Amino acid sequence: MKQRPRVVILGGGFAGIYAAMELEKAVGKGEDIEIVLVNRENYFVFQPMLPEVISGTIGILDVVSPIRRLLPRTDLHVRDVEEIDLEKKVVITSPGFRPHPHVIPFDHLVLALGSVTDFRGLRGLPEHAFPFKNLGDALNLRNHVIRALDEASIERHDETLRKQLLTFVVAGGGFSGVEVVAELNDFVREVARSYPSLDPREIRIVLLHAGERILPEVAESLALFAQDILMRRGVEVRFKTVLEAATGDAATLRGGETIPTKTLVSTVPSFPHPLLEALPLAKGKNRRLLANRHLQAEGRTDVWALGDCAVVPQVDGTPSPPTAQHAIRFKGLGKMGALGHRSAIAELPGGIKVSGFLAWWIWRSIYLVKLPGWGRRLRVASAWTLDLLLPAELVQLKLGGSLGVTQEHFEPGQDVFRQGDLGDRVYLVMSGQAEVWRSVDGVEECLGQLAPGDWFGEMALLNETTRGATVRCTKAMDALILPKSEFSVLAANLPDLRRSFERVMEGRRGAAGRGGERRGS
Ligand SMILES: Cc1cc2nc3c(=O)[nH]c(=O)nc-3n(C[C@H](O)[C@H](O)[C@H](O)COP(=O)(O)OP(=O)(O)OC[C@H]3O[C@@H](n4cnc5c(N)ncnc54)[C@H](O)[C@@H]3O)c2cc1C
Repeated sequence: MKQRPRVVILGGGFAGIYAAMELEKAVGKGEDIEIVLVNRENYFVFQPMLPEVISGTIGILDVVSPIRRLLPRTDLHVRDVEEIDLEKKVVITSPGFRPHPHVIPFDHLVLALGSVTDFRGLRGLPEHAFPFKNLGDALNLRNHVIRALDEASIERHDETLRKQLLTFVVAGGGFSGVEVVAELNDFVREVARSYPSLDPREIRIVLLHAGERILPEVAESLALFAQDILMRRGVEVRFKTVLEAATGDAATLRGGETIPTKTLVSTVPSFPHPLLEALPLAKGKNRRLLANRHLQAEGRTDVWALGDCAVVPQVDGTPSPPTAQHAIRFKGLGKMGALGHRSAIAELPGGIKVSGFLAWWIWRSIYLVKLPGWGRRLRVASAWTLDLLLPAELVQLKLGGSLGVTQEHFEPGQDVFRQGDLGDRVYLVMSGQAEVWRSVDGVEECLGQLAPGDWFGEMALLNETTRGATVRCTKAMDALILPKSEFSVLAANLPDLRRSFERVMEGRRGAAGRGGERRGS
């Protein structure tokens, strides 16, 4: 029987979700295709509303929608895409509960992975700057800002520290940077009233922008309006200013000037997804994938590219800017951006430019209509209405730390991992025992025993291969688990540790070569 053509969509943002919605409509009309969507989260984030999470104007869950409800006819894989092989026409996703490789073949591939804020190569930014792209970023920033205000309100000994705590810096004058700084400014200045020991004049909010005017995506008159309104509300807008480095205490600008701060948000530099860089596809400005007006990647009939990761020609031939409107290619709504405090700018179809309260009202109405699902619209509308009446929410929602080192328990007979699984972590036996078994041509061979104090699982990580053997618990075992990312950092920065792992690895290779106890399987 002939299989249905499978369309695999990578990315569940504006571009991926709306592409899948259109394909579902085609399926509804009788088109016989299978739709698969791979996304890191099981929800779609309505990014233009994300800055409102900082102030709590709308609830965290109100800016997201569950993808399964939006796309009932799509097979959703909540996984990270790890590899794309255009030659073999497969996509490989990250390990789930059982770390075996997960391979998805495709007939058509839709690349909609968006862009990433990439701090690599910028001194101190990976450690000290907050990105602002997803729900976690918005929540982290909100918590951090409230913590900084709490700390500042009781910091009476160290003037410098108090200054750092009350200075908030945002780098990037595009849509996201401007919306973040506007929301941050409104929020900090409003909630500061609840801290009697804080003088509003001590608060400093700074926007850094490399260009001569902010919002290069919109007409100059609107950008000037936005600049003016931000400045009038107390934001210091610094033009032709490039953020070069950061520490936990300051932002360093090109030229050497430093701004003391404990809060640095950076929405720049933004690049297309790193997975796409390695693909043998034509790239345009800023390394975005070149697509034609039908969204086909240049030179391919089976690969499609859309949203922030692609350069798609508009009707007039100019490349589409990286905005939500262009990601879903709905026509005629122009460009809009919120400036906080019930004001916005909007460039409507036909070149009509609106700013201030009317633009804000249009912005809210259009985004409300565009929010997927009636339930979500109702929640957001009521949150916005209540916001007109109630003070800003000041609760700091702490959700525990990162995964880091964790502990796991294994029962006898349980496989910790199996030969051929992907290597995603290293183990340290704390108590109990395990055996290492390798299968060659159907014959199982025991390579050794693992006891308290032994490490295992490092080979696949150091050699970037899959697991070469199965580890099976033989006596109830507790193990410490170090995820791949943390292990890689340690191995890269502690040469002695890496060498000792390599010695253990060599010893194990020797033992494997000599062979061990064998049994047929
Ligand atoms: C704070 C902020 C405010 C904004 N405000 C506006 C605005 O007012 N107006 C406007 O027009 N535009 C605005 N934008 C821009 C707009 O949101 C983007 O242009 C739009 O989201 C692009 O859609 P996309 O689908 O290409 O990418 P995204 O929406 O970023 O979606 C990419 C998806 O891919 C997933 N993904 C990435 N890597 C992997 C992986 N390895 N495995 C699995 N899944 C992966 C991500 O989780 C995400 O779901 C704003 C953006 C931000 C961040």
